[in-house]
Amino acid sequence: MTRIVCKFGGSSVADAEQFRKIKNILHSNQERKIVVVSAPGKRNPQESKLTDLLYSTYDLASKNLNFAAPWKLIRERYVEITQDLSLQSSIGEEFDKLEKDLKKNPDKLSVDFLVSRGEYLCAKIMSEFLGAKFVDSYPLIQFDSQYNVTPQSYENIAEALSSKDALYVVPGFYGSDMQGNLKTFTRGGSDITGSILANACDCALYENWTDVSGLLMADPRIVENAYAISYVSYREIRELAYSGANVLHDDSIAPCRAKNIPINIKNTNSPGDHGTVIGPTPETTPRLITGIAGRKDFSMLYIEKSMMNKEKGFGRKVLAILEENGVSYELSPCGIDSMNIVVDSKTLQKVEKEVCKEIEQKMQPNKIKIFSNLALIATVGHGMVSQIGTAAKLFAALAKENINVRIIDQGSSEINIIIGVNEFDFEKAIRAIYGEFVS
Ligand code: ASP
Repeated sequence: MTRIVCKFGGSSVADAEQFRKIKNILHSNQERKIVVVSAPGKRNPQESKLTDLLYSTYDLASKNLNFAAPWKLIRERYVEITQDLSLQSSIGEEFDKLEKDLKKNPDKLSVDFLVSRGEYLCAKIMSEFLGAKFVDSYPLIQFDSQYNVTPQSYENIAEALSSKDALYVVPGFYGSDMQGNLKTFTRGGSDITGSILANACDCALYENWTDVSGLLMADPRIVENAYAISYVSYREIRELAYSGANVLHDDSIAPCRAKNIPINIKNTNSPGDHGTVIGPTPETTPRLITGIAGRKDFSMLYIEKSMMNKEKGFGRKVLAILEENGVSYELSPCGIDSMNIVVDSKTLQKVEKEVCKEIEQKMQPNKIKIFSNLALIATVGHGMVSQIGTAAKLFAALAKENINVRIIDQGSSEINIIIGVNEFDFEKAIRAIYGEFVS
């Protein structure tokens, strides 16, 4: 029998009612055998995610401040879920022990350990509720010194989840480093856990259950009634997620992609909806535009020097200065005597003076300038490779709305046209592109 990994995000495990929905979802398809959970999320917009409350608790405890307020909210939520589900679980004891450690010796607990308890306890409760086997991710997922998941992790997982008939529950978001310290992924990392499990167990499908019925062609806060995307390729989703489409952690694509395992984004509150399927590039005629995504908070470093094109190693040396100062770059459109480097504004701000000084000293430019308040917008679709006039249409739409385009970059992938505009034109530009290609 083929198996499906089902990862349930924070909103899907926010309360007992959501746990019951999950049970029904699992019962409706016998192939759903591997469950990954996040920590409970918000039940309403006023509430905090439990992961955020765990970070606050640690912050207070590590400064020897009173952490009772966030701790109480975390504890109450888990107790409420176990009581509502009439479980025998000894959740109170787990909390008593953690609280004692936090009070006595907060330095002995790492922030990653405390925060991981969000997923750990949720998985414990879920496994009891489902009558499933709990498998901890701590000994299975190992990070090397570069914070990459080791090949050994995949073998560990395949062995630990080897029974094809068993129902397993695994906490998302964490593993351990080579020294045995518990380590979390970056925020939203349970998506990565699910994808790694799907790969390791050669699953037929990775279902990522959330509170929306898939990905939309544009951010619904910007474009009203944006169409849903029913199918998107791994390459397209990678470009869209990187550019700001906020559905899956962008590192969660690679493990499934390596084995061509499709990912289906599904809605726990409306499980019958098709959602969005992410898979290999379709062989049939692809759509011209699959989606539009974007992000604000970029700056552009503009460097001008006459005869720059003849100066060997100019670009490499400038990028080395950025690297040494901990700044990674997003794009670098170049002219004959000029170079533009687009970087994240917050990172640059911290080292702006040092970077400019070093460029002045080492590269002797005629001019160096920083333009801030820049937004990048990616228009993504496999269809644009073969369609004459796509760029012309896009720029005509922007011109019609009087939007000044500061940067143009059609990636070598040819499935993405990236433009840079002033932040105040961001929303207007997305609406103009959507209007031109979609509605
Ligand atoms: N709970 C973690 C977070 O909020 C991980 C996850 O939900 O994927 O980032």
